[in-house]
Amino acid sequence: MIADSFGRVHDYLRISLTDNCNFRCFYCMPEEEYDFTPASRLMQTQEIIQLAKIFVAQGVKKIRLTGGEPLVRKDAAEIISALGKLPVELVMTTNGTRIAEMLPVLKEAGIKTINISLDTLQPEKFFMITRRDLFHQIRANIELLLQHKIKVKINMVVMKGLNDLEITDFITWTKHNPIQIRFIEFMPFSGNKWTSNKMFSLEEILAAIEKDFTVLPVKAEPNDTAKSFMIPGHEGSFAIISTMTAPFCSTCNRMRLTADGKLKNCLFSDGETDLLSALRKQEDVLPLIRASIWSKKKELGGQLTTHFEKLEADLIHNRSMITIGG
Ligand code: SAM
Ligand code: SF4
Repeated sequence: MIADSFGRVHDYLRISLTDNCNFRCFYCMPEEEYDFTPASRLMQTQEIIQLAKIFVAQGVKKIRLTGGEPLVRKDAAEIISALGKLPVELVMTTNGTRIAEMLPVLKEAGIKTINISLDTLQPEKFFMITRRDLFHQIRANIELLLQHKIKVKINMVVMKGLNDLEITDFITWTKHNPIQIRFIEFMPFSGNKWTSNKMFSLEEILAAIEKDFTVLPVKAEPNDTAKSFMIPGHEGSFAIISTMTAPFCSTCNRMRLTADGKLKNCLFSDGETDLLSALRKQEDVLPLIRASIWSKKKELGGQLTTHFEKLEADLIHNRSMITIGG
């Protein structure tokens, strides 16, 4: 068992397979020219599997593959197949571009739920956000997953003045589709141009939806990072990830392994622990894992408060989102 000093048991590992991506979402990548980490400095296939097994032996029950874009990694299929054999729930967050070609591998590995990021239902705006003209491909891949009975959750980062007026369009999409929309409060990371006036909060999201729909809360599962809701008569549902205004730190069970093999005990931690170097020197990484998690701060990496209006994003010491793995 891996626990922190506040008694939180950590049994959910998020592994970033790469900091590379075929999209250029401005809220995720640093503003300046960005060099992806050379492959030799990333965890290699066997190193990922070896580390994953160490975590699983310590009680990890769920692994999420993320990135960067996890499916752009050349050996993604090999990694997914190997992790699919571990006794864990394997899930993934992806931009959805490579779903069609990877579908057999995903099914074979027993992946039952996939989170796809989609911040707009308008093709032109999609291009503006991602710098890629692939809106229709993503929509088709979402349909494909649904046809294959893989549960789809849509991650939508809500940004004031950019896509907040589309919230109800996303809700309308859930009427006849068994999808869950996850509205995410915009978070500050290194170089992502976050300002408090671009934030659209839990309260504002709910108010926007309640103008047109009857909203009922759904009982939370332990360790949920989202507040879940349903709308009577809708096949799908929605949830709000209110990290900025109402964080879920008290029940957090998450650990993050970056693509270059560093363990982050919180999305907003300023420190990280180099597991990959230790592994390459054939050292025992378990004491490092335990020490890292034990030192986890009570809330938001000890760097943020829920008074986001006063937050100075430039003072936060962290990686960019694309190098952490969301
Ligand atoms: N490439 C994959 C994707 O886009 O789904 C996985 C990696 S991406 C970093 C994981 C999630 O983080 C995505 O849903 C993305 O929208 C979200 N994300 C990135 N930057 C964010 C930010 N500044 N605030 C909130 N969510 C963010
Ligand atoms: Fe790539 Fe995902 Fe970041 Fe967009 S959100 S740049 S798709 S990693």
